[in-house]
Amino acid sequence: MDVVLIDYARDPLEKLYGAYRTCYSAKAPREVWDDIKSGTIAHEKVRAFVAERLKTGHVSPLEQVVFWFGLSGVSRALSHQLVRHRIGISFEQQSQRYVKYKDASLEYVTPETWAAAGKSAEYEKLMVEITRVYEDALKAGIPAEDARFILPNATPTNFQIMVNFAELLHIGDLRLCTRAQWEIRKLVAKMRTEVVRNIPEIGGFIQPKCGERRLGYCDEDLKSWEACPLGKVRPHKAQVLEAFKQFRRGGVVDLTDEHMQQAEDFREPIVKLGVPPAAAST
Ligand SMILES: Cc1cc2nc3c(=O)[nH]c(=O)nc-3n(C[C@H](O)[C@H](O)[C@H](O)COP(=O)(O)OP(=O)(O)OC[C@H]3O[C@@H](n4cnc5c(N)ncnc54)[C@H](O)[C@@H]3O)c2cc1C
Repeated sequence: MDVVLIDYARDPLEKLYGAYRTCYSAKAPREVWDDIKSGTIAHEKVRAFVAERLKTGHVSPLEQVVFWFGLSGVSRALSHQLVRHRIGISFEQQSQRYVKYKDASLEYVTPETWAAAGKSAEYEKLMVEITRVYEDALKAGIPAEDARFILPNATPTNFQIMVNFAELLHIGDLRLCTRAQWEIRKLVAKMRTEVVRNIPEIGGFIQPKCGERRLGYCDEDLKSWEACPLGKVRPHKAQVLEAFKQFRRGGVVDLTDEHMQQAEDFREPIVKLGVPPAAAST
């Protein structure tokens, strides 16, 4: 599997700053952008302002930041899942009608579980046989669009995609979660690495939905949460709600420094356990 961040729309941080500032300031966009371009507003301030806004639910400005990725060597099992994302993303995928697979390009994706179960040889044998029949079919004049009917989910495929930041965060929410299938999880993790490497100021916000920069808790079923390694460090939604109920009943002790540190770690909204509701809402 290969993932490359081909490009991203120029000055993503400044685009986000301009979009958010336009919402929250009396200044016209021209003035906001004059401040950015003249350096009147320091880069550090731009970064800090955007980081604060990214903690909020105001996500539409994120649609103004766009990435292009090249994805290759992924299976058709993966590609079928990826193309289910339909908002804020655009795909171009290698055609099985125009591209006739040659031996070398039919490097089927092989899940590790086959080797772990001692079944690699059977898997390999079947793939070799499929390749043989596929190539025979092409030689017999069967068009590629019909020969492909025998190709399996393991068949490799390539994409160029364009995706905006709002959708990339949403894809991270779902596909970095351990409930997602291993191959698409690996793909999205690599996409995240690419964004972090190129634009660290915003890349770190791509997390599974339980991440401290996303929901901060798991909203999957309890069994999945218990089975997930991240469940050891991130709470389940039911626990958060239970803590809130206890707080409303006044059955929660005053916060200690340790609690405050935990709240900071989870970046939970101000659920100040033990503090009267009026104070907590400020
Ligand atoms: C763990 C897991 C298991 C899955 N299992 C299955 C399965 O068994 N069978 C199956 O068919 N699929 C399955 N899927 C795919 C899933 O149902 C979605 O199709 C896929 O995750 C795309 O996500 P999305 O619907 O949020 O679309 P996106 O395009 O990524 O959505 C972006 C955002 O826009 C919203 N949105 C998009 N379109 C509309 C609309 N028309 N109206 C209102 N809001 C909209 C979405 O809710 C979301 O908030 C699974 C996905 C995951 C992560």
